[in-house]
Amino acid sequence: MTGRRTSGTADSRCPTCAAPVLRQWVGHRAALHVTADPAPIDPATEHHHRTPMRLTWCLHQPHIGPPHLRWRCPSRACQHQIVTEHRCTSTPDTLF
Ligand SMILES: [Zn+2]
Ligand SMILES: [Zn+2]
Repeated sequence: MTGRRTSGTADSRCPTCAAPVLRQWVGHRAALHVTADPAPIDPATEHHHRTPMRLTWCLHQPHIGPPHLRWRCPSRACQHQIVTEHRCTSTPDTLF
């Protein structure tokens, strides 16, 4: 029982560009610390957003408690909102 696990996303700000983001550990073993944009995308355009360098996540909205991020459902029947990994927009040095 090492490491701490939080349930639900923490509303916070990106330390780099100060945009509102969702930050959360996703997964149980080898959890990934995810910083995601809070605005959901249209699943129909997901292929425009998702790249090997930028993952997408399912945003589960439980009846009680805050929403939380999960790995994308393998099923096409997924009914969750989809969010993308946060990318800073105010760092021009990444625009190469
Ligand atoms: Zn899903
Ligand atoms: Zn940022």
